[in-house]
Amino acid sequence: MLPIAHSGRSSNLEFEPGRKNEPSASGIPPVANDSAPDVPPDPPAISDSANSDPANSDPATDTREACPACGTHQKRILFSATDRLYGTTDRVFQVVECLKCRLIRLHPQPTPLELNQYYPQEYWFVADTSTADRLEQVYRRFVLRDHLQFVERALRDSEEKGIVLDVGCGGGLFLQMLAERCGAKVVGLDFSLDAAHVAWSRAGVPAVCATLSRAPLAPESCAVVTMFHVLEHLYDPASYLDAARQLLRPDGRLIVQVPNAACWQFLLLGERWNGIDVPRHLTDFRLSDLDQLLDNCGFEVLRHKHFSMRDNPAGLATSLAPKLDPMARRLRHVPETPGMRLWKDLVYAGLVAASIPFTLLEAACRAGSTIMVEARKKT
Ligand SMILES: [Zn+2]
Repeated sequence: MLPIAHSGRSSNLEFEPGRKNEPSASGIPPVANDSAPDVPPDPPAISDSANSDPANSDPATDTREACPACGTHQKRILFSATDRLYGTTDRVFQVVECLKCRLIRLHPQPTPLELNQYYPQEYWFVADTSTADRLEQVYRRFVLRDHLQFVERALRDSEEKGIVLDVGCGGGLFLQMLAERCGAKVVGLDFSLDAAHVAWSRAGVPAVCATLSRAPLAPESCAVVTMFHVLEHLYDPASYLDAARQLLRPDGRLIVQVPNAACWQFLLLGERWNGIDVPRHLTDFRLSDLDQLLDNCGFEVLRHKHFSMRDNPAGLATSLAPKLDPMARRLRHVPETPGMRLWKDLVYAGLVAASIPFTLLEAACRAGSTIMVEARKKT
C-alpha cells in the first residue's frame, strides 16, 4: 500500500536529516540509467483485477479504481492526456488526485497487456558508430556523475561489502561506469531480455532478465540496491521495496529516484510536464509520498537530493519541445538524415543547457523535478 502524508519535508540540492547539509556535485537526459529512465511493468506485481475487462468492471469493487495508498475511491481529475512523448496510443487517460491522501495517479490503470504496448521497443540507448551517437554517449557518461557520486557515497557510508544491484539497468552504462570508478561488484536486472543482453554483451555488466521479487540473488547479498525511475512504473511499488529489503545487507543502502510531482515544472506546465509521462507512469509521487512509502516498507530515509544533471534540465527541455527529444525521435522512427539528426541534437542540447539555471533554482528551493533518496533498513 502506498501511504501518504504531505509534510513538505525535503531539501536543497541535498538534505540529510541529522547531518550537515552539503551541496553536491552533478551530472543529464531523461531515461533511467544510461538511457531509458525506466523499467517496464512488472506482471507478477499486478493487482488482482489486472485481467478483468475494464468495460465490465464495477467501480465500487475494482481495485484499479481505488487509491493504492489509502483505498479511497473519491478523487478529482487534474487533467486528461495521452502519450505525448512516444505516441504509442491515442487513448486518453486521466491524471487524478486522491481526495483523502492526495496521491496523484493515472486513471484508469491500463491492464498489463495494454501497458506493455505503451513501451516502445528499444526503450534504452545503445550507442552506434555515428557522430551523433558518439556525442550522445559522451554526454550520457558526463551527466551520470550525480548518480555515480550519490551511490559511491552510500557505499562509503554503509561500509557493507556486497553486490550493487541496479533494478531497471537498461543498457548497463551506469553500472559499467560504477565498476570502472570504484571497482564495485555490480549486477544489473531488467524486465527486458534485450536490455539485459545489451548490458552484458556491450557494457560488460552481468545482467539478468527478471522481476526483483524473483531475482536469482541470495538474501542479504547486496550492499546497495538502486532503482532509478522505476517505482512510478509499477502497479505495486511496495512489493519492489519489500524485495529490495530482503536482498540488502543489514546496513545496506537503497537508492531510489523518481520524478517529483511537487516540483515547480509541474505547477507551471501541468500536463505538459515530462515527469507525468502518460500512460507509462502509474503513480506520480511527491517527495512526501515517497518518504511515507519507504517508511511503511521498513526503511529509514537518510538523505534527499533534488537535482540530477541527467534528468532535471533534460526533462524541462523535453517538456518544452518533445519533438526534439532524441529518445522520442528514435523511438518514433522520425525520418532524418545524419546531418539533420545532428542539427536537432545540437538544438536540443542548447535547450537543455538553457534549462540548467531554472532547474538549479527549483532544486535549491526543494522543488526539483526529480528526487533521489538514500535509505537503509530500520533496525
Ligand atoms: Zn489516497
